[in-house]
Amino acid sequence: MSSVEELSQLFADVGFEEAKVKEIVKNKKVAHSLEELVREAGARAEWDKGKRALLHTLASSLKGATVTGQNLVAEGIRSGELKTSLQVDAALKYVKRAGEGATVAEMHAESGVGVQVTEDQVQARVVQYLEENRAKIESERYKLVPGIFAQIKALPELKWADPRLFKPIIDREVLKILGPKDERDVVKKEKKKEPKTNDKKKAAVEEAPKRTMFSEGFLGDLHKVGENPQAYPELMVEHLKATGGKVHTRFPPEPNGYLHIGHSKAIMVNFGYAKHHGGVCYLRFDDTNPEAEAPEYFESIERMVAWLGFSPWKITYSSDYFDQLYELAEVLIKNGKGYICHCTAEEIRRGRGIKEDGTPGGERLPCAHRERPIEENLAEFRNMRDGKYAPGEAILRMKQDLSSPSPQMWDLVAYRVLNAPHPRTGSKWRIYPTYDFTHCLVDSLENITHSLCTAEFYLSRESYEWLCDQVHVFRPAQREYGRLNITGTVLSKRKIAKLVHEKYVRGWDDPRLFTLEAIRRRGVPPGAILSFINTLGVTTSTTNIQVVRFESAIRKYLEDTTARLMFVLDPIEVIVDNLPEDYEELVSIPYRPGTPEFGERTVPFSKRFYIERSDFSEDTSDKEFFRLTPAQSVGLIKVPYTIAFKSLERDANGKITRIHAHYENDTPDGKPRKPKTYIQWVPIAPRHGSPIPVAETRVYNQLFTSENPSGDPADINPYSEVIYPSAVVEHNFRHVVSNSPWVVESAKQSEFYVPEEHDRKEVCRFQAMRVGYFTLDKDSTHDRIILNRIVSLKDGSK
Ligand code: ATP
Ligand code: MG
Repeated sequence: MSSVEELSQLFADVGFEEAKVKEIVKNKKVAHSLEELVREAGARAEWDKGKRALLHTLASSLKGATVTGQNLVAEGIRSGELKTSLQVDAALKYVKRAGEGATVAEMHAESGVGVQVTEDQVQARVVQYLEENRAKIESERYKLVPGIFAQIKALPELKWADPRLFKPIIDREVLKILGPKDERDVVKKEKKKEPKTNDKKKAAVEEAPKRTMFSEGFLGDLHKVGENPQAYPELMVEHLKATGGKVHTRFPPEPNGYLHIGHSKAIMVNFGYAKHHGGVCYLRFDDTNPEAEAPEYFESIERMVAWLGFSPWKITYSSDYFDQLYELAEVLIKNGKGYICHCTAEEIRRGRGIKEDGTPGGERLPCAHRERPIEENLAEFRNMRDGKYAPGEAILRMKQDLSSPSPQMWDLVAYRVLNAPHPRTGSKWRIYPTYDFTHCLVDSLENITHSLCTAEFYLSRESYEWLCDQVHVFRPAQREYGRLNITGTVLSKRKIAKLVHEKYVRGWDDPRLFTLEAIRRRGVPPGAILSFINTLGVTTSTTNIQVVRFESAIRKYLEDTTARLMFVLDPIEVIVDNLPEDYEELVSIPYRPGTPEFGERTVPFSKRFYIERSDFSEDTSDKEFFRLTPAQSVGLIKVPYTIAFKSLERDANGKITRIHAHYENDTPDGKPRKPKTYIQWVPIAPRHGSPIPVAETRVYNQLFTSENPSGDPADINPYSEVIYPSAVVEHNFRHVVSNSPWVVESAKQSEFYVPEEHDRKEVCRFQAMRVGYFTLDKDSTHDRIILNRIVSLKDGSK
């Protein structure tokens, strides 16, 4: 077995592009097959783009298996005789069948090598086909065309025709018969069917290279390493030496709170961009504000970056650079570009043109300290450092340009006195640098090639570059992208803190919140978040997204990656009167219809089971109610016959406790009745360990009632968390929570799959058929199952 590095090198040698190589090595089986093929064919063989794609198609079909004769097929691709994936498929089928006896000549015959079908031949055969089917085409019109297409392509005479010939010819000939489309051809919008996982896999192979948020839009347009302009070009030489020409980015959170959904964009932008370009990304804690920091924020931030699937190249702290920053501050002063100022906050505002009534735009004036001699500034700065000033008595300001239209050039504050020890540097410093002073210089010290931040920093770019130039250090390129906002919830630290402290929610990770800790606890897979952000793309403007859109992206992701189970939220017991006590029928149900890789499970159907309370109605007059009523039988998922209502039992309060039913396996013709619909059911079969009781099922809805909440607790939706105390789930739940490999395998089909820690509860996701997506909450214990609803099955739940 070769290592991922060796494989990557091998595939790169053959000419696969970097992004493609990464995609290939992700799938071990395909990578293994491709390795075999390439080694046999010789890495230096000439593989052009088309041949490489075909070779990859072949490896994808082999999926790790070694087939006698596979090298014949590879050779056919290399020599250019097998030209299409159709031919490669046919050739592979042939060698599989022929085994040891396979010959090149037969393979060529089977895969249509050398068969020439001219455009005229295609034309003639199409016309003939359309004539033969004219009546049908005239009655069903354009609706029929996609079907015609497939049938014509499958005609034996046309099997090896150039696939590109069909469309123009069929379009032209159909038009002759039907004339242009008219109102008869307006089709009502149909719901698009999701392709099955298998088809998706194939599609992913065929449509490479993938377009992502990194290859287009804001990130696609960024400069290459080394192309950002410098005031002192010689600094670029050192920069390129230090970076080796590789992309260097950083994610620089302030450790003063928990990250939220918006930050996941910043994480993906910074870490993802570096990864996409084979570069590195720092996690840099911007800890210049010691008063607001706390250890749990550092830990949580690291955890969330890892959860989203990224590993920092290095974890650094702005405070690591306090010594260097101090030295650079002295350089600034010595260059005549920094001065110690003793003005009050109010005086500074005035000097910046803020009028007495608080409005801006007044005359901007230098303060009395602006023209002090350099020596005096240096001495006073050292006095600041040495504790001669209390907070507010002295600051270091940059001597910028008061005549500039940008407020970022109006003599920003660089250092201030704070009487606070720092969690990392202890009591060493009494003065601390500001964001404006720190950020650009630390970017420079870390040789950041792309300093990516949100658009509110746009004006800061000028001061960022100014400061680097004044102290004569490499000037990184700051570029600004739009924030991601989720509307319909609150993200502000202050507002969430209030909800947490006053116990309106279960903590910072309450599944109704949009902190990343909360989203993780609720059960949202990290891959779903990445895929969501990728879909939004990156531009320079703010993206405002409704919570429902986020949820629909999660739903889409879970649809493809979860097994299904039967689950009943509010059960009523059903007793089938006409079945014997020991009756048992094992019905097989696929874990995910259409995806055989998920396998299937058996569920015992017997005399007793549970159905959902809301799937029964005593009212027989509602024509829209398709489920069980005293006058209407219903199907049970995968059970051969329908059940019909017989009688009811109620408790003292009149609540229905049990339904007696009749199993309709005794119809006059012996055939099952056709029910209006099928409902889920959970067996009562102690022998099989079914049902499994769920102590609490927590169903979440919007936290606030108003669409744009202010965070006022009075606005909290009383139904934001509804707890069902008696739900039941089929016994196969045990299998799903043990997180069997097929769950992971299927999730890996997603382009944005992120491996997760298996022993964590939130990874035990499943689709409760007809109810929603659920996972274990962290409050679950061995004998007390607590489920979270991740999302409902459909939009528009109340
Ligand atoms: P908030 O004020 O929402 O807490 P912040 O900007 O103070 O956010 P930081 O810790 O400074 O939080 O953020 C770290 C990085 O994440 C910064 O580069 C910031 O621009 C980025 N970021 C913060 N919020 C968002 C958002 N909503 N969308 C995209 N990026 C964001
Ligand atoms: Mg901030």
